[in-house]
This record gives sequence, C-alpha cells and structure tokens, in this order.
Amino acid sequence: MTTQSADAIVIGHGLAGLVAAAEIAEAGRSVILCDQQGPADEGGQAFWSYGGLFMVDTPEQRRLGIKDSPDLALRDWWSSAEFTDGPEDLWARRWAARYVEFAAGEKHRWLRGLGWRAYPLPVWPERGGHGALGSGNSVPRFHITWGTGPGLVEIFAARVRSAVAAGRIRRLHRHRVEEILLDGGAVSGVRGTRLAASAGPRGAASTPDAVGEFVLHAPAVLLATGGVGGNPHRVRELFTRSFGSEPTDMLCGNPAYVDGHMLDTARRAGAAVANEDRLWFYPDGVRNIDPVWADHGIHVTAGPSALWLDGAGVRFPPPLYPNFDTVGAVRHVVASGFGHSWLIMNSEIFRKEFGMSGQELNPAVTGRHPWLAAKGTVRPSISPLWQRFLDEGEDFVTASSVAELVDGMNAVPGVAPVDPQVVAREISARDAQAVNAYSKDPQFAAIRNARRYLPDRFRIAVPSPIDDPRHRPLIAVRLRITTRKTLGGLLTDTDARVLREDGTPIAGLFAAGEAAGFGGGGVHGQRSLEGTFVGGCLFTGRVAGRTIGRG
Ligand SMILES: Cc1cc2nc3c(=O)[nH]c(=O)nc-3n(C[C@H](O)[C@H](O)[C@H](O)COP(=O)(O)OP(=O)(O)OC[C@H]3O[C@@H](n4cnc5c(N)ncnc54)[C@H](O)[C@@H]3O)c2cc1C
Repeated sequence: MTTQSADAIVIGHGLAGLVAAAEIAEAGRSVILCDQQGPADEGGQAFWSYGGLFMVDTPEQRRLGIKDSPDLALRDWWSSAEFTDGPEDLWARRWAARYVEFAAGEKHRWLRGLGWRAYPLPVWPERGGHGALGSGNSVPRFHITWGTGPGLVEIFAARVRSAVAAGRIRRLHRHRVEEILLDGGAVSGVRGTRLAASAGPRGAASTPDAVGEFVLHAPAVLLATGGVGGNPHRVRELFTRSFGSEPTDMLCGNPAYVDGHMLDTARRAGAAVANEDRLWFYPDGVRNIDPVWADHGIHVTAGPSALWLDGAGVRFPPPLYPNFDTVGAVRHVVASGFGHSWLIMNSEIFRKEFGMSGQELNPAVTGRHPWLAAKGTVRPSISPLWQRFLDEGEDFVTASSVAELVDGMNAVPGVAPVDPQVVAREISARDAQAVNAYSKDPQFAAIRNARRYLPDRFRIAVPSPIDDPRHRPLIAVRLRITTRKTLGGLLTDTDARVLREDGTPIAGLFAAGEAAGFGGGGVHGQRSLEGTFVGGCLFTGRVAGRTIGRG
C-alpha cells in the first residue's frame, strides 16, 4: 500500500482534469493528478476530438457577416435543452446561463491569451429545422481549433508540465480510484488499485492487472473522470431507458476508459447523479477502417444534400437531414425498427460534403497546414483516406446505377434487404424536385439556405439530381448509432461542489467535465448545440480549479 498527500487530488487527466489541475497549481496549491491510464492517454477523449468549440459573437463570425448574440445563443440553448422545471435541472439551468455568457465573451479572450487559434471558418452543425422556437443553432458557431483536439490539449498539458517542473503537481499514472474516503461527512482522500504498466497505443484498452493498492489524502478531491460511452453494458441499459428500445448493432465512439465506474463510486459516497439516461449518441456512425478501440465508430459530418433512408429504404421526414437534429434522428432510427439507416449520394455530393469527426481524420487542420486546409475548403476533392473508406469500409457501397446500388446495399452483412422499387422511387421523387430553383421539398430550401453562408457555398453541392451520369459512382453509406457523450452526471452547484440528493454539498468533493454532465448534472438538458463538450470541460474545469485554488 502506498500513501501520499497534497492540498488537492484531481482524478482524470482528460481535458477537464488538466484544466483544473493547472488552475489549482497556479493558485499555489499542491496537486496529485492521477489516472487509471498511462501517460500515452493524456488529454483523454479531447485528444481524439475536432477541438470544436461553441462560441458566440466572435471575430471569426463577424468577419463572415454572422450576426450572433448572447440572447440568440441562450434562446437556442433553451429550445434545444428542453429543461424540466424539476430539481434535476435546477443547477443545469444555472450552469447553462453562465456557460453561454462565458462562450459569448471570456472564452475566446482567455483561450487566445493561452495561445489558442481557430480555423477561420466557423462550421454550422445541429441546424435544427424545427422553426425559430425549435432546437438547433440559428447561426454557425462551431469554432474548430487550429490543430484540432491535440492542439487544444497541448495548451493545458504544457501548463501542467510547468507545474510538475515547479513541484506543484505530482502525476500518478495507472492508479484507478475505487473509493472516496470520508471523515465526519467531509472528503479526506481516495483509495484504489495500482495497475500494471500497459504498453498499448493511445486509445487502446489497457491491461486490468493489479500490482498493489494506494491511498491518497487531501481535503479536496475533484472527479474529472468522463462519461459512460465506452462501457457497452452501461450504454445498453441507459439507451434502453432513454429511447425505450434495446440498441442493436451499435458502434462505439469512445475509448474503453470512458467507463462510468466513478459515478457509482461517487454515489456510494453520497453523491447525487442526475439525468443519467440523457445521451448524445450519433445516428450516423460508420466503422473505422483503422480501429483504435473495440467496435470503433466514427461520426459522419455530412452536409445537407444526401438522401437519408431508413432500414426499409423509406426517406426520413423533414427536417431530419444530415446533422440537423441528432437526437431526433436517433429517435427516428429507433422508431423505424432497424438498427441502421442509409445515406444516398453521388460522387459530387460525397466530394464536397462528406466529412468525419475526429482529429486523425482531418489531417490538414490537425497538422496545421494552411494551404491544404484552404484547398480542402475551396476545392474539395476525394482524399486518399476518404477513397480508402469507399474501397475498404464495410459500410460503403458504390455503383454505376440505382439497381446496382440496391444490390450492393442488400449485400452488406447484417442488413435487412431493401426493396429496389422503394429506393428507386425515393431517389427519383427527390431528383424531380431538384431541377427548378424552387420546389415543394423542404430539403432543397435547407440546402439553398445553407449555401447562402459563404464558406458553405464551397462545401455544399449545387442542388441537382443524385442519379446523374456525370457524377458517378452512386454511393450508399450504411449508418449505425454510435455512442459518444453522456449528457447527465454528478449534480454540482455553480462552484462545482458535488451535491447530495437533498441538495447539500459533500464538503471537499468537486466534479468537472463529462462526469458532471458538463456542469450541474446535465447542462445540455436533452440536446447539445455541438462544441459544448470540450467547451464544457474548459469551463467546468476552470471553475472547479479556481474554487479549489481559493481554498
Ligand atoms: C472522437 C471524438 C470527437 C469529439 N469531438 C468533439 C468536439 O469537436 N467538440 C466537443 O465539444 N466535444 C467533442 N468530443 C467530446 C469531448 O472530447 C469529451 O466530452 C471530453 O473530452 C470529455 O473530457 P473529460 O475530461 O470530462 O473526460 P475524459 O476525456 O473521458 O477523461 C476522463 C479521464 O478519467 C480517467 N478515469 C476514469 N475513471 C477513473 C478512475 N476510477 N480512476 C482514475 N482515473 C479514471 C480516464 O482514464 C480518463 O483519462 C469528442 C469526443 C470524441 C471521442
């Protein structure tokens, strides 16, 4: 048994933990930063991310003529969140108001001051389409970090390294916390298991072998241990509770260390967990051709032009176009009775609009190559990596006619066969609406609206038929539900203190990041506006770190 002590213990070296540890150390306090993973996994999930950040009324938006404001953003947040009036959303509402204020002001200044830079063209995910009072972003607000997730993580990893060099932070890797120690109702430390060194690469499952035990003492303990998305058993249970149906054929968008065990550990210490069954899973996952973790799924970030069909080949209803309403689309997939859906397009739509989330899939921005990034925006082409997905991906079908496409779809292992006549009817009906500058089909109104935003003029295909011999091959992509973010979590007040069911704080216990539902046990309510997860880690990690730093 090894024993150590410090002013504060931070559990989790993901983004929330790094931000908090740096803030506590810079306030002059000693910190133990421990994680069940090895040094290769520093930065946690944020390393894998696009580093996309929700920001409001920024210089990047203003340069492109986007008129955004805190009021508009807050209204969008509220419509998307659909908070209840109950106690489960009491603190989430307060965190949401503060977070939008942060995202509309200090967030940009603070990050710029730390060396952060944005890819200059904000992106427009989660567009809604349910009207002005409905969910979704009224304007583009997703600011991609120049350098994506690794670039964002490095800012805070560097601050932690400086604090380590100054003797303020001690790192403990392969230390899994299994118990929160209490003394007279207040936190006094943690206990857990020391794990054997694991040689696997970043993101791979690590060995569970134990080599000993440890106890750490401190009057302040911060839980920054992430959500549940990498725990298939937990996901099954929560998905069934949330969506009313057992998930079938689901992919996994998270490394295995996103296991959610800490939520149970915290519960045993008296903590309340709120809104646990609110999940942000994507309806549009494809299997990675170079998997890092088991059943590795990637979220497809396609533009609005492709035709989205359910497992029987029937078109999704408006406004369920790619990346308009994530939760609505997951519910539609579940209601269809199939575990998958289909995205149908041609090579022109694929070339311009097909995208995939994640740092390794966007090498131009991750590697900070200005010319490649600019070329990818202004003159998009099918990159060798995308071509590999077309050639080798088990979810991708290419064909030179609609009949051949349906044959290919029906040959994909594990799918129920679609009726060729149903698919042909959907494609030809859609295409007949594409030939005038106006139509009765709201998807074309949505495409034309999107193309009015200057950067999307390059990134979104001119409305035209899919079944067009000039744009072969035809492409079908089988999409499956993919785990990603946990919206609920530990109930925290706006100082990041963990609360009991009765609303009183557990003295000395704090939570940040995904473990805290990004603030208050579920700052997003039912839906996210995107870019709010790494942003939520920055905000809650900073609040928790500063509260602990003040003592
Ligand atoms: C591919 C991908 C792309 C994404 N893109 C975006 C994006 O563009 N924008 C956005 O806003 N969000 C994005 N996200 C989501 C975002 O990255 C995560 O929500 C966020 O990084 C979570 O950070 P965290 O610090 O709360 O937790 P994590 O990163 O999960 O870190 C938690 C750490 O705690 C450790 N831990 C857990 N339990 C214990 C224990 N008992 N003892 C010791 N250690 C423990 C884990 O090992 C882990 O290192 C993306 C996520 C992925 C996977």
